[in-house]
Amino acid sequence: MATERTFSILKPDATERNLTGAINAVIEEAGLRIVAQRRIRMSDAQAKKFYEVHAERPFYGELVSFMTSGPVVVQVLEGENAVAKYRGVMGATNPAQADEGTIRKRFAKSVGENSVHGSDSAENAAIEIKQFFDDKDIVG
Ligand code: GDP
Repeated sequence: MATERTFSILKPDATERNLTGAINAVIEEAGLRIVAQRRIRMSDAQAKKFYEVHAERPFYGELVSFMTSGPVVVQVLEGENAVAKYRGVMGATNPAQADEGTIRKRFAKSVGENSVHGSDSAENAAIEIKQFFDDKDIVG
């Protein structure tokens, strides 16, 4: 498996509790390199576009308002098998079902306020990275 990139977001529940450093430590200890990182406040339009695949789901409005409720940290992570590796490090969407030691088991508050996002495929990672970063801002 070649080196690949994935897109990560540290969500508002994480920045609110000053967990950026603690979560970044888990990411780096897993062998993923943070090759781009920026703290932003997501606009309503950005959040709606980012989660448009969930537009028909009952939690879409709640999700968009949560993602715009405070600062987030957007990141590009690089490493061997980065997409699957980060999904493993994050743990299940619902922290009650997440494995011990995963970010969501350790830090998430609920299925909605679950501390981190990670791309679910290399194809989506490329699309998501483009939404938030220019190539020149990614330093591998
Ligand atoms: P992920 O890939 O593990 O992040 O999960 P999904 O793609 O299924 O969902 C995207 C995001 O929507 C999750 O990370 C949660 O923040 C949110 N979400 C998913 N299911 C629910 C739910 O039942 N209720 C609420 N409020 N938010 C949810």
